Amino acid sequence: MAATASASEQAILDAVPKQLLIGGRWVDGSAGTLGVEDPATGETLCEIADASVDDARAALAAADEAFKTFRGMAPRERGDILRRAYEAIVARADELALLMTMEMGKPLAEAKGEVTYGAAFLRWYAEEAVRINGRFTVNEAGAGRVLTMKQPVGPCLFITPWNFPLAMGTRKIGPAIAAGCSMVVKPAKQTPLSMLMLAKILEEAGLPGGVLNVVTASSSGSIMEPLIKDPRLRKLSFTGSTEVGRTLIAQSADQVLKVSMELGGNAPFLIFEDADLDAAVDGAMIAKMRNGGEACTSANRFHVHESVADEFARRLAERIGAMKVGRGTEDGVTMGPLIDDAQRSKVAELVDDAVGKGAKVLCGGERVDGPGYFYAPTVLADIPDDANLLREEIFGPVAPVTTFSTEDEAIARANDTEYGLVAYVYTQDVNRAFRVIERLDTGMIGLNQGLVSNAGAPFGGWKQSGFGREGGPEGIEEYLETKYVALNVGS
Ligand code: NAP
Repeated sequence: MAATASASEQAILDAVPKQLLIGGRWVDGSAGTLGVEDPATGETLCEIADASVDDARAALAAADEAFKTFRGMAPRERGDILRRAYEAIVARADELALLMTMEMGKPLAEAKGEVTYGAAFLRWYAEEAVRINGRFTVNEAGAGRVLTMKQPVGPCLFITPWNFPLAMGTRKIGPAIAAGCSMVVKPAKQTPLSMLMLAKILEEAGLPGGVLNVVTASSSGSIMEPLIKDPRLRKLSFTGSTEVGRTLIAQSADQVLKVSMELGGNAPFLIFEDADLDAAVDGAMIAKMRNGGEACTSANRFHVHESVADEFARRLAERIGAMKVGRGTEDGVTMGPLIDDAQRSKVAELVDDAVGKGAKVLCGGERVDGPGYFYAPTVLADIPDDANLLREEIFGPVAPVTTFSTEDEAIARANDTEYGLVAYVYTQDVNRAFRVIERLDTGMIGLNQGLVSNAGAPFGGWKQSGFGREGGPEGIEEYLETKYVALNVGS
């Protein structure tokens, strides 16, 4: 246990199950244990189970067995389980937020925001469980009938990242349960505690044993590949980096597995000369600094019309320079640590590269001393076109501001990336807004707003940001197969 933990922190740590959940039983990991660290202090919070390949296979076997009966559970009952879990999460939002801040680092208010956002997927899919429809039509020749039905795809594997430890799980688990699927979930080893608590809450909400199995592991690659190649698995949904996503797509090819991929981003944030600059700065603070910049939707580069770029950069630097850096549990802190030293080094390298090539530091631009992995919130201007941070996902609190002179140039610069997750557009001209939106190659657009995430909307990317959607009516389709029945109704 960390020496600096308060009594409330210790209480929530004590409440987290530390074992693997397999077939409705909490069991030890055959590979021993692994430590979970507080990125604000570098101290170990607790030890949790480390799964072996055999544990992972046992989890898939349990999911396979549970699917046989769970697929037949009444939709209303599945919805009620989700609804009860939603209510429990909302009731325990403060302790879940504290747990998340401890393992991931984001400030408490943001952690609470994620708890609310994550819970919303359970509520949304509680309501969708009873609205899974097929269709019935007379075929075009008039002689027969077309009947379609939607059925659960089967046992799923979910692999989730550390940046949104709860919501990246509920976006998959909610629709999967609603659809009648069973699953094995593997959270990131840096932030497994929120997922373990979620599993306990779903268990208490009445989810039958074996429907949700959780494996935590120090060696994700070696325990996941055998599952991905196991014919009992029918679906893989992954959220994480494009690099790992590519590997998993290749592994999935063997058995032509159904896959959903929520991968990296390089979001452009466009500000036209007619934009409301105050609103643009407010939106930029959310799009860039939410989650410390460690979000796939994080604005990675600001393309600003040359007539307003200096003023925008000045105002942004004033706001960002005033952020309070510290452990997310402390009062008034608006910027927590990065997840680990490797992530902080990557951010520092990207900033140093840009500055070395001529970028100007308006605020920040350096590591913050002390225990934990802090980096000063940073604004850079005069970014040279060959700076690596225009092409690579920064995943940290760094806002590079560049300029454009024409609408065509803005669009060309925005689309100049292999990613296509989200773009932000600030303009008050409705004709321009639609012209630009229609030409941007991204799965999502924030028009005059810096946040797109919403449980009722289809979240997902184009190009190398992945495929498949999470949230909204589209999200449950990822867990359903369509069966068409040709009906001979005679003449
Ligand atoms: P990551 O390194 O790709 O890891 C994501 C998950 O994959 C973790 O659970 C990790 O486990 C696991 N993993 C790593 N290598 C694996 C392998 N060879 N086989 C199977 N599993 C493997 O990504 P991250 O650093 O955690 O997350 C940041 C990335 O996620 C960013 O690129 C971000 O843009 C992306 N992201 C995308 C979305 C979206 O919806 N599009 C949302 C959030 C984040 P361990 O960590 O335990 O090794």
